[in-house]
Amino acid sequence: MSSAVKRNILLTPGPVTTTESVKWSQVVPDICPREAEFGEIMEHISTELTRLVADPDHYQTILFAGSGTAAVESMISSVPGNQAIIIVNNGAYGKRMCEIAEVYGIDYLEFRSPFDGGINMDALERFILSSDRLISHLAVVHHETTTGLLNKVKEIGALCKKYHIDMMVDAMSSFGAIPVQMKEMNIHFLASSSNKNLQGMPGVSFVIAEKSKLDNLKDRKPRSYYLNLYAQYQYFAEHAQMRFTPPVQILYALRQAIRELKQEGMAKRYERYMASWKTLISGLKRLGLTNLVPEEHHSKIITSIHEPYAGFDFQSMHDFFYSKGIMIYPGKLEELKTFRIANIGDITAKDIEFFLELLEDYLRGT
Ligand SMILES: *Cc1c(COP(=O)(O)O)cnc(C)c1O
Repeated sequence: MSSAVKRNILLTPGPVTTTESVKWSQVVPDICPREAEFGEIMEHISTELTRLVADPDHYQTILFAGSGTAAVESMISSVPGNQAIIIVNNGAYGKRMCEIAEVYGIDYLEFRSPFDGGINMDALERFILSSDRLISHLAVVHHETTTGLLNKVKEIGALCKKYHIDMMVDAMSSFGAIPVQMKEMNIHFLASSSNKNLQGMPGVSFVIAEKSKLDNLKDRKPRSYYLNLYAQYQYFAEHAQMRFTPPVQILYALRQAIRELKQEGMAKRYERYMASWKTLISGLKRLGLTNLVPEEHHSKIITSIHEPYAGFDFQSMHDFFYSKGIMIYPGKLEELKTFRIANIGDITAKDIEFFLELLEDYLRGT
């Protein structure tokens, strides 16, 4: 391995701080991605990703070049037929799925739910029952990165099962840490990306789906050319290649990131994240800061913190931290007056302690 790369601490919800070994795994001999050797690498990556949440005999990972939204857009534009879909909106990413459905002219019903508390399951059931349209699918975000709210996908999956509705889940910021079992949770399609809990580089996103559901899409008229989920699935099955140029080096990094996830273990990774979160929360308390989402609905991965005082200037605090090699994130919902701290990536509670010391200094100085 070559000399060390400067280590920044990203307290952002992705891309995240990566290991030295993931960074260097991108430095490889040039290769034409249409060579069989590279096809094998992609097949390996796909199978390993599937294995994290489902049985690869019955489920398939479909890789795309693109950020996470590409996978979500592929799923939302490719899967629904002519019946209506329900989209649960309790944060910016639920809203984004509605916006995608809007662009493609998909018949969707928006189920709104508070962004800082659990989904009312009775209300959701009434919503399903009160619709005069046939509903084929329901789309929901597993972990709303907007706020740190963790949606109870297992309960929603059970409800969907009862009404024969297939479920699509944006698991972008839960995948790789928070346990998901697609079959048990009745999830038929799931989207995620390389650069959050997987701790890889940004540029690859993917949809994991039940093969029989993918096969059912065969005769569907495509709404998108590049993001056509069935075409991408079918082409890979036949050629072991992506339809279009894959991000070669990002995939090498992802392969290494998956190795490291397996070494650490998914449960242990989540434990490490939760240990950082506990340190964060107790530090915030000590400093008199409060956060938005109550613990019972919290992912323990990203925390929305109320601005410490009126007239708080996020940009100035951001610049202070940036100069120390720490990157922090603004709130995503303007009206909330929060900023966000994520505790994913190759960081530990020690890094969070360092952040808290600096935060204390900063708040004292202002
Ligand atoms: C990060 C994220 C996305 C995708 O964002 P990109 O910027 O396209 O990578 C989608 N949904 C959720 C819940 C996310 O956290």
